[in-house]
Amino acid sequence: MRTQRQVVDYSLQKRAVLRDVHNGKIGTLEVCDASPYLKSAARFHGEPTDDRCPICRRDNLTLVHYIYGDELKQSAGQARKLAELPVLAMTLREFQVFVVEVCQSCAWNHLIEQYLLGRDALTADELDHVEAVAASAAAGRHRETGSSSQRWDSRR
Ligand SMILES: [Zn+2]
Repeated sequence: MRTQRQVVDYSLQKRAVLRDVHNGKIGTLEVCDASPYLKSAARFHGEPTDDRCPICRRDNLTLVHYIYGDELKQSAGQARKLAELPVLAMTLREFQVFVVEVCQSCAWNHLIEQYLLGRDALTADELDHVEAVAASAAAGRHRETGSSSQRWDSRR
């Protein structure tokens, strides 16, 4: 995504956890503890992947995108579909995205990435473009109302 920034990658931590599970230092119950909320977020808002679960190998992993930020108000902390993020990134200045992978079979879950999204990342030119597109859309609506009011006037 164009406005993605301050990306933090958690793949090293994930690999360390998986190594410990493999060595028996951590029990699978400790890492397969997805809450009912996380599991339902995966079911309803999750992004399917082709990656097999590293623990049970029965199911493919699902990515859940959680959004946080003051501008989101009541929506802060909610899971959103990946397709909704670019729209939010054009309307909000800045918000945080946490990406969690979840296995819907064994409940394995791990934070894999976090990053910032939002208009703050756009250059002045890009912002002009976004605003021009928005303005022309608004102008289009205006023209329609304009012509209908004109008709109303001429009828009078
Ligand atoms: Zn699994």
